[in-house]
Amino acid sequence: MTTSDHFHGFVVTKPETGQRVDWTALTTADLMPGDVEVAVSHTTINYKDGLALTAKGPIIRKFPLVPGIDFSGTVISSSNPEFAVGDYVILNGWGVGESHHGGYAERARVKGDWLVKKPAAFTPAQTMAIGTAGYTAMLCIMALEAHGVLPGHGPILVTGAAGGVGSIAVAVLAKLGYEVAASTGRPEEADFLKGLGAKDILNRSEFSGPAKPLGRERFAGVIDVAGSTTLANAISQTRYGGCVAACGLAQGMDLPGSVAPFILRNVTLAGIDSVQAPKAKRIAAWNRLATDLDKSKLDALTVTHTLSDVIALAPQILAGHIRGRVVLNVA
Ligand code: NDP
Repeated sequence: MTTSDHFHGFVVTKPETGQRVDWTALTTADLMPGDVEVAVSHTTINYKDGLALTAKGPIIRKFPLVPGIDFSGTVISSSNPEFAVGDYVILNGWGVGESHHGGYAERARVKGDWLVKKPAAFTPAQTMAIGTAGYTAMLCIMALEAHGVLPGHGPILVTGAAGGVGSIAVAVLAKLGYEVAASTGRPEEADFLKGLGAKDILNRSEFSGPAKPLGRERFAGVIDVAGSTTLANAISQTRYGGCVAACGLAQGMDLPGSVAPFILRNVTLAGIDSVQAPKAKRIAAWNRLATDLDKSKLDALTVTHTLSDVIALAPQILAGHIRGRVVLNVA
């Protein structure tokens, strides 16, 4: 563990035109206010990080900024009574990597209220193999449960199944005993998805055209990362009383659908936000992951890179070319 005030990190700046990302020498005086300082050991790349690093979406709201919406590491100083030096902590969201310096640096300083302690079940690297994508997948599953969609009720559609949120959702749903229908644009990943526990593999083109107001009732529940016509089709094909957990916009921000499934089939559309989720819900989600995510499946869907690779990975995640989850070693 380093106690020097000097460290390095990626910093995003905004010159007159475009955006730059540079590996930069920093000191703890450059960090933003917070009551807990962390030696970052691992981070990851989420879709949102891809948007931030490539400036393809307005994610970063303050310049210069250290990007990276999540990280894990060891507390090196704390004036927060909940955290002591040596605790291993996880950060997801709260505007980190958007308006507060994030995880793509060797050090971070944040509010202790934003941190969750690492469940004993996971290694430090596994916390970022899960990352915000996996924690969001768990929030989606908890929403289905809260709306009464339980194992045995019928198939659960997972869109973007070969991506980060999707692959962890498939693995957890299958372990819980749900029947999983995995929708993907990568048919070559069928064996990978079956290995995670998917029963059926659907081609995502089935969901990409215009949606009927009421389609055939196929799914007891849905976890959708795509938005747009994919979400509209998923809603229209949800069975009476089912629930659709919507967390993403990989296809688009629009929702070109009908109210018919809500008012004629009692379908619930549950919005999922991980960034501002209250602490108790975060802890519940991480504890559920500790019991309901098979570690061998997690390892099977994870690849490891060093932090320096993140620049090359950013356009790849936006193009939908990354399978499962990526751990970035920082230490
Ligand atoms: P990934 O890039 O890992 O996965 C996204 C997947 O979506 C792709 O792998 C692909 O899966 C599928 N996809 C891509 N383009 C399209 C398209 N045009 N139509 C249909 N499917 C498509 O990203 P993440 O899993 O990290 O994130 C997924 C989404 O969830 C993102 O939009 C992200 O912003 C959002 N998100 C939201 C959070 C929240 O708090 N609400 C938190 C975390 C993520 P395949 O190849 O299998 O088809």
